[in-house]
Amino acid sequence: MKRALILVDLQNDFIPGGALAVAEGDKVVPIANRLQTAFDLVLATQDWHPANHGSFASQHPGTKPGDVIDLNGIPQVLWPDHCVQGSKGAEFDPRLDVSRIAKVFQKGVDPQIDSYSGFFDNGHRRGTGLAEYLRSRSVTDVYIAGLATDYCVKFTSLDARTLRLNTFVIEDACRGVNLQPGDSATALDQMRAAGVNVVTSDDLVSAAVR
Ligand SMILES: [Zn+2]
Repeated sequence: MKRALILVDLQNDFIPGGALAVAEGDKVVPIANRLQTAFDLVLATQDWHPANHGSFASQHPGTKPGDVIDLNGIPQVLWPDHCVQGSKGAEFDPRLDVSRIAKVFQKGVDPQIDSYSGFFDNGHRRGTGLAEYLRSRSVTDVYIAGLATDYCVKFTSLDARTLRLNTFVIEDACRGVNLQPGDSATALDQMRAAGVNVVTSDDLVSAAVR
């Protein structure tokens, strides 16, 4: 058994004050730092969009954030411009300890398709390299934390299950967008139904540190 911690999208734009702020998103950063002490392998994903990305409402006249369109055959929720490559908003939160992150996997780089999962784009057309990386290091168990519960955490977890990885979501180390009230709870139910184990940071850090 070999474990990896995957920190999902802990970027300025998803933290309060950012372009696509997740409520209490800042609360998970110190938890993510504490969790890292319990893992030998820490990885991160980074939403990394070109300025003309198709998930941006600004690219579709007459739409607004929250609308759903068809983007090249896939239903797409539209978002405010966020995590544009090279921008401050795309950088990791400055309070995040990045010193132990072995590799960062960027996603959403193709303007024609979004990528919620850290593994594959939303059409499963192209991978980020994360699956191959985990396989090459014989990782069997992945622990997932970050933003947002109902999008990138959820789809990263579901893809991890598809790849037959033992998958754990660290509930208190995630927060959701909740476009509709209850979206995060629904997402956790969907993850559980797919065989994802929902745990807390205390389950992990207390066992490792105490
Ligand atoms: Zn995005």
